[in-house]
Formats: sequence, structure tokens, C-alpha cells
Amino acid sequence: MFGLLSSDIGIDLGTANTLVHVSGRGIVVNEPSVVAVDRRNNKVLAIGSEAKRMLGRTPGEVIAIRPMKDGVIADFQLVESLLTKLIKTAQKYPLFFLRPRIVIGVPSGITEVEKRAVLDAARKAGAREVHLVAEPMAAAIGMGIPVEDPSGSMVIDIGGGTSEIAVIALYGIVCDTSVRVGGDEMDEAIISYLKKNYNLLVGESMAEKIKMQIGAAYPLERELEMEVKGRDLVQGIPHTLRISSAEIREALAEPVNAIVEAVRRALEQTPPELSADLMDKGIVMTGGGAQLRGLDELLRRETNLPVNVIDDPMVCVCKGTARILEDMGKYYKVLMDSQR
Ligand code: ADP
Ligand code: MG
Repeated sequence: MFGLLSSDIGIDLGTANTLVHVSGRGIVVNEPSVVAVDRRNNKVLAIGSEAKRMLGRTPGEVIAIRPMKDGVIADFQLVESLLTKLIKTAQKYPLFFLRPRIVIGVPSGITEVEKRAVLDAARKAGAREVHLVAEPMAAAIGMGIPVEDPSGSMVIDIGGGTSEIAVIALYGIVCDTSVRVGGDEMDEAIISYLKKNYNLLVGESMAEKIKMQIGAAYPLERELEMEVKGRDLVQGIPHTLRISSAEIREALAEPVNAIVEAVRRALEQTPPELSADLMDKGIVMTGGGAQLRGLDELLRRETNLPVNVIDDPMVCVCKGTARILEDMGKYYKVLMDSQR
């Protein structure tokens, strides 16, 4: 009965995408982590895809910002606006008498000041109880990994702004390596490759499209091609090119290698007992960037371990926050020290 009166909200505050799960209803928000702000009065005009549409084509006074872009909270006020809006949306049908309990997934490297800011923002937005959980832990729980097991599991979460590699055992993160390289860096690498090699200027969304359509980290059995539209930097006019996946692989080499290096470092830091576990269990990849073609194959070759990409990698963290809320008794140990 009380279940009807209260609601539990799980939030994945990602650098690229924000997801919200409401108990009994499922995922109700799945939007880009973008806020459109009027610079004259700092008013938030839009969030999510509506704000993303304004990115790169906004009139002077309206700017579109990704408040979590590099895995740190760039602007507390914006994060607060984003959270407030999300929680309001989650409670669209306000049949609730009790204020919600909220679990929020945050980067594991979050500072104390940032923690406080997120907690305060969520409480201001109406939460009765707020808890934070490190994203790789939430992802592991969302993937159904038995985080309570004494044997170690490795999770690689490749997001927009960051990649996090964590070894998890006994409800804790044993080692945690984080690099500020993710899908955004891949997009930027594509932009500079096309500029350098073809004098072609493309925007961020075109670069992301190229990455998703023909991007790869490892040679493909059959290489792909696509038409790319941009502006010729010499003549200043629109121009179309055909680009191959082999070229994009070359373009992506640097960010991809940075991720491989980070995985290597994480493996070096893993205590030997847990390394042995990884040989059986392997590595599980999640996050949108894990979908880059051939990245699993490359990591398999570089680490000699089994590597799998989870189905539906972009919702794992959010699903994890929801599972934690369903069984707080079991999962309280995974929460960061958070206030009520
Ligand atoms: P975050 O947790 O940081 O919000 P996500 O897990 O939502 O990030 O992943 C977003 C990133 O995944 C973006 O950089 C996006 O371009 C990338 N991405 C999504 N789909 C694919 C794909 N099919 N291939 C390569 N990258 C992808
Ligand atoms: Mg994420």
C-alpha cells in the first residue's frame, strides 16, 4: 500500500546521457545531458534533446551546455536545474504523498564538494532521502554481476567524457582507473583527422554519426564506407567526401589506445588473487562507447582475457540504481557515504 504513496527514483547522471527510472514505471527519462541557458539571465530554457538541438546552432544569447561534460561537475547551478527538471518530470503524475527516495550514479572520482552539490541539489529538488553510488558499481549491479561475491569482476564503462575501469568484489570497488577519454574524444579525433587530411570541417554531430556508422577499433572483415558532408576549408563551400572505415580506424587510434592503456594499467594494479578470477570471468564492457565496432576484439587481443559487451549498454547504470532502491538492505554497502 505504501508503495503507491512513495516513489523511488534512480538517476544516471552521465556525461553524455541522463536516465531516470521510477519504481513501478521503468525508465521515464532518457535524454542527452544538455542544458540550454539564456546567458542574459542564466535561465534554463530547455534540457535534453530539445537543448541538444540548439548545440552549435544557437543564437548568441542562448548557449547549450553539457554540465557534466568531462566527468566533473562544471557548473553546480546547471546540475541543480537539470536535476530539478528531471525529478519533476519523473513525478509527472503527482499521486505521491511522500517525497521520493533517490539514488544517483556519479563518477567514482567525484570530489567531496561535488558530492555535496549533487546531494543538495537533489534535496532542494524535493528528495526525502538521497544516496550516491559510483557509476561502475551501479553498472555492475545493473548488468546482474554478483557484486557481493568475493571473486573479482572487471567492468569497463566507456561514456561520453570518461572511461572508467573498475574491479569489483565484496560490494566494493577494489581498483578504479578513470581516464578522461571517451566517445567525445573519438568524435574530436574524427574532426581533426578530416580537417588535417581533407581540409574538411565537420560538426560534432556529423563526427558522432561517422563514428557510429563506420567507426571501428579493429580491422573489419568487410570495410565500410560512407558519405561525409562538411565545409571545405580552402574554398569555404560545402563539400561531400567518401570515407572508409579503415581511415576512421586510423583517426580513432589515439583515443582507442588511451582506453587500452588504461585497461592495462588497471590490470597491473589488480591484486593477483583477483586477476586470477578475471581469467575465468573476463571483462564486461558497458556505456555507449563500448559499442564501437571491434573494441571488444582489440581488448581481447591486448589483454588475453574474455571480453564481452553487455546488451543495452547505455541503460546499465540506471538499471543498477533502480535495483539498489529495490533492495536497500542488501545494497547499502555499495552507497557512497551520503546524508539523509
Ligand atoms: P555517459 O555515461 O557519459 O553519459 P553513455 O554511456 O550514454 O555516456 O555513452 C555516450 C557515448 O557513447 C557517446 O559518446 C556516443 O557517441 C557513444 N556511442 C553511442 N552509440 C555508439 C556506437 N554505436 N558506437 C560508438 N559509440 C557510440
Ligand atoms: Mg555512464
